[in-house]
Amino acid sequence: MKIGILALQGAFIEHAQMLKSLGVESFEIRQKRDIERDYDGLIIPGGESTVIGKLLHQLELFEPLRGEIENGMPVFGTCAGLIMLAEKISNDDNVYFGTMDMTVRRNAYGRQLGSFFTEQELGSCGRVPMTFIRAPYIEEVHGRAEALASVDGRIVAARQGNQLATAFHPELNNDTRVHEYFINIVRNR
Ligand code: GLN
Repeated sequence: MKIGILALQGAFIEHAQMLKSLGVESFEIRQKRDIERDYDGLIIPGGESTVIGKLLHQLELFEPLRGEIENGMPVFGTCAGLIMLAEKISNDDNVYFGTMDMTVRRNAYGRQLGSFFTEQELGSCGRVPMTFIRAPYIEEVHGRAEALASVDGRIVAARQGNQLATAFHPELNNDTRVHEYFINIVRNR
């Protein structure tokens, strides 16, 4: 199994370390050439969604990656990565891949709560640590998307088929369960 990690901007190194600790091979996607190889899953890290979106277009990675996701390539988006997958952003006119049936709100926790840590149940994983950094939350899911975790009544993780998205950064804690959850999606594809 090989996972491609989008490495244009943001917290991509931590995902690679997380996968390594699980014995899963990964490589960085920085240019078109990188996605000509075979891979089994894609991680879109946190960062700044506007910057990642711009770079994806400039580097001509946008259309091929969207095609892969639409064809069922397992994908895991964290924070800005979740924003990239959302069909609608309620406080931003941009839409990126738009492959998940959900509306998200960017920078949704305001200034005071810009960054915070909590623990909450996530799907079959049990209670997992959640680090939020200028995070979005999911205002609503519909269609094929299902909520996997909520914090204070706000959805912070969702799944739609082979697509997994979290508003928080599981790669910033030592708990590997959310990555294992994704690896299982890849394995069972
Ligand atoms: N605030 C960022 C955005 O809107 C997301 C923050 C993050 O990925 N940690 O894209």
